[in-house]
Amino acid sequence: MNLDFTHDPDARSWVESANAADTDYPLQNLPYGLFRRAGRNESLRAGVAIGDRILDLKLAAAAGRWDTPVAVQLQVLAEGDMNRFMGAPSAARRAVRAALFTALREGAGSQQKALEACLLPQDAAEMALPCRIGDYTDFYTGIHHATTVGKLFRPDNPLLPNYKWVPIGYHGRSSSILPSGADVRRPWGQLKPPHLDVPTLAPSKRLDYELELGVFVSAGNALGQPIPMEKADEHLFGVCLLNDWSARDMQGWEYQPLGPFLAKNFATTISPWIVTMEALEPFRCGFAHPAEDPQPLPYLDSGKNRAEGGYAIELEVWLQTAQMRGAGETAVKLMDSNFGESAYWTLAQMLTHHASNGCNLQPGDLMGTGTQSGARPEQGGSLLELSDGGKQPLTLPNGERRAFLEDGDTVILKAFAQKDGARRIGFGECAGTIVAANAG
Ligand code: MN
Repeated sequence: MNLDFTHDPDARSWVESANAADTDYPLQNLPYGLFRRAGRNESLRAGVAIGDRILDLKLAAAAGRWDTPVAVQLQVLAEGDMNRFMGAPSAARRAVRAALFTALREGAGSQQKALEACLLPQDAAEMALPCRIGDYTDFYTGIHHATTVGKLFRPDNPLLPNYKWVPIGYHGRSSSILPSGADVRRPWGQLKPPHLDVPTLAPSKRLDYELELGVFVSAGNALGQPIPMEKADEHLFGVCLLNDWSARDMQGWEYQPLGPFLAKNFATTISPWIVTMEALEPFRCGFAHPAEDPQPLPYLDSGKNRAEGGYAIELEVWLQTAQMRGAGETAVKLMDSNFGESAYWTLAQMLTHHASNGCNLQPGDLMGTGTQSGARPEQGGSLLELSDGGKQPLTLPNGERRAFLEDGDTVILKAFAQKDGARRIGFGECAGTIVAANAG
């Protein structure tokens, strides 16, 4: 692991809220996002979350005292050009993290005085998508999800033979990626329930979520130039939460033979803060396919990937229905899982496989991990799994039942990483509320 003083679990910030035990954004996290001050008509600004505040990097670049290489990168961020910063060499990005950590650490003296005026409360900001997402690809690395869903669609043949050889993926649609908090409109689509001979066009009746992580590409690769596993980590910038909203009734009818299309591309929601790979370094874990499974082909294998290619990240799904909201009841947790145990392929393998044919990736491209269900039935990362294909609706604490999402339902994804010897860091929330389909 590439640990340094920015991972010191005992380090405290002069921003008092960053020292709270349960904050997602302690000094050791420092995730990046784009925001505008609420109610202002201004261009997007880059910021770093710290406790319940945001360090406004446009202000901080001017007010703080920074070494030249750091000042150069902060100027890029001050202009709100997240993509250019994402594409900077990893050493330059690490230097910015180290400088921000030092400036926000207890005892920062004159830097503290200079930066105090560069903070704003997070609830006084409107978060946007964290960068320009040129291309979006969704993988299918959750093996428990792939097995359970495979059984529903193909009882005798759940995992197709390529699954354990190829990190399966499909090209998604970046134009419909939404920031957390945006409403999600129930889509219309071709539906053909098994008992009908012909499809109809109607609003989806089997609307679902998928619990995923997304990883952003850092420096890209030239067209025709693969990225070897040994270099993969240098091309990864950071991780967010991702909800791959899915219309199961459209999906079941349209998905063969080319895979997901309109069942998925009506909306994808992501969390606003990108947790950097540097912040996640303490939470790396070993990675291996079971001994009885095919081992990765050499281009998808490396000693580093086996030793620490995984990331132990706790994932959760929460639901608040309109009825719960009306009664003043908070969201309820539907499940939890751990990315380090649920993913059959690592982030590095996703990236290397994506570029293995020479496909060019660019800074800000987004790769979804696929749904990360745990091994047990109650750990399904979608309602499709938790309700056994819609046959066994869940009963919520207030007595409501759900096989699939209803209008007014708010789905909230959460994630955090914690272990002995490291400071707990969190991802914040990825939330979306279903609103009624357009009138027919
Ligand atoms: Mn998905």
